[in-house]
This record gives sequence, structure tokens and C-alpha cells, in this order.
Amino acid sequence: MKTRWKWMLSLYAMWVCAGIGTGFAAEAEKRLKVVATTTMVADLARDLGGDRVDVAGLMGPGVDPHLYKATAGDLRRMQRADLILYNGLHLEGKLQEAIERSTGSGRKIKAVTDRIPKDRLLEAEGAVDPHVWFDVSLWILCAEAATEAFKELDPAGSPYYEERLQSVRARLTALHEWCKAQAKDVSPEQRILITSHDAFSYFGRAYGFKVIGLQGISTVTEAGLADVTRLTDFVKTNKVKAVFVETSVSPAAMRRIQKDSGARLGGELFSDATGSRGEMKDGYDLGTVEGMIRHNMNTIVRALK
Ligand SMILES: [Zn+2]
Repeated sequence: MKTRWKWMLSLYAMWVCAGIGTGFAAEAEKRLKVVATTTMVADLARDLGGDRVDVAGLMGPGVDPHLYKATAGDLRRMQRADLILYNGLHLEGKLQEAIERSTGSGRKIKAVTDRIPKDRLLEAEGAVDPHVWFDVSLWILCAEAATEAFKELDPAGSPYYEERLQSVRARLTALHEWCKAQAKDVSPEQRILITSHDAFSYFGRAYGFKVIGLQGISTVTEAGLADVTRLTDFVKTNKVKAVFVETSVSPAAMRRIQKDSGARLGGELFSDATGSRGEMKDGYDLGTVEGMIRHNMNTIVRALK
């Protein structure tokens, strides 16, 4: 009798486990498979998609999107995805072409920047500047664009995505206001931000800094000796207190300018990639857009004020 009970009990346990197992598998199966290019776009997708999406980020921390080339693994991931989210405006350089070729079989591609009105975009060197996340009010528009794509592919989740968008919008609005307030700690004549490449023009416009990048809006062409000399002279003439290096660009030329001009090295800024997820600083996760922006603003204000 005892054995029979045991046998029945284990049969019941197996049935329950199998049920739960298939439940989990079915849940995972239902989730939208999203491929995101940069760490910023991946962070946005995770924030907005929550439990209804599986996000695979192609580029890691410290990776330069202008120079990034798709690997065989990336192409496979893109082929299996329901949605490919990318920054667009040619930030991803060569990868953008691969993305635009990969549409078909129900797969959707979406540039998160596609809702930004043209008159709010900056131009440089005859091209549109793609570094929009540094004006947080523009990043909110990117959040709206990504949400639109989620809703289209998963209409049943619309109320869920809408709710998450509201909370993301509230957080980003607070971040935008915080940035404006922080910038005021630096006197207007000291608000000159000198960095490795022109990633900070939106930041400068939004928060009142004059921005000069050693390289242009892309890192594809390297800075020449003449650029280094010109910028060194500028730093000396304008008595700029500090210059900055970037996590995704080689610091060599900027260190040279710092030494030759006598300015300080103000620190390392996140430009085209966030830090590692889970790496905390001053209470913020450096692997998120919010963390990268807070880190940058604190670093800049500390060095220039
Ligand atoms: Zn860039």
C-alpha cells in the first residue's frame, strides 16, 4: 500500500513539474525576440519591453558603433529575431546596411530615432549627427518609437507597453531636468566640453555647453597632427580647465593635447556605449543610459567648475 502511494505521489509530482516546465517554455516562446544594436538601444528595449521581450544586444560596453561590423553570430541572431531595433542616422555605419537587408519573413526593423522631427536633428560635415541620446528629451521620442514597434508586433501587450512607457518617460523627464540643474554649477564661460570625437553636440545644445570633438561625428577618419595642434592652442587660449577621453575611442591623441596644453584630464566619458550592466557608481547602474548620463554629467561638472 505504502509503495503504491509513493508511486502515485511521484507520478503526480512529475505531472506538475512537466506542466510548469511547458508553461515556462510557452511563456518564453511567446516573448518577442528583439535584437538591439548598441548598449543604449538594448537598455531602452529592456526598460520598455519588460517581461514580454527577450533582448539580445549585439554590441558590448566600450564598443564603437561607427566601426562595428556584424559577426556571423549577429547575422544569425538577426535572422531569428521578430524585431531589430537600431539607432539609425548611420550611427551603426556598415551594420545599418546589413540590418536594412535583413527584413522579410515577418521580421520588423525599427530605427528608434525615426520619430525625431528633422528640425530637432543636428547636422555636421554634411551628415545628420546620430548621437541623440545625450539630449534626454530626444531619447524620450526614441522610447516612443520603440514602444510603437512592440505594440505593432504584440498587440495583446499594448496596455503593458504603454504603462512601461509612462514610467520610462517620467524617469527620463526627471533626468533631463537634473541635467539642466547640474550644468548650472559650471559658470557659462567654463562650459566648454572637449572630447575625443563629436558625440556631444546634442548634450551641448540641451544643457548649454560649447562642444569640440577632436575627431568628427564619426570615428572612421582619425585626427591628424594639425587637428591636435589646433585643439591644443584652443585649450590654452581659452584656459579650458580639463579635457575628456571616451570609453569607446582610443585616448592617445586626447592625452597628447592634455599634456601639451597643461589642462587636466577631466576623466573618462561614456560616449557611444554604456558601461557594464550591474556596475554601480554613485547609486546608478553604469550599464544604463541613465547611469551613463549621470556619470558623464558628474564627471564634467566636477572637472570644469
Ligand atoms: Zn560617435
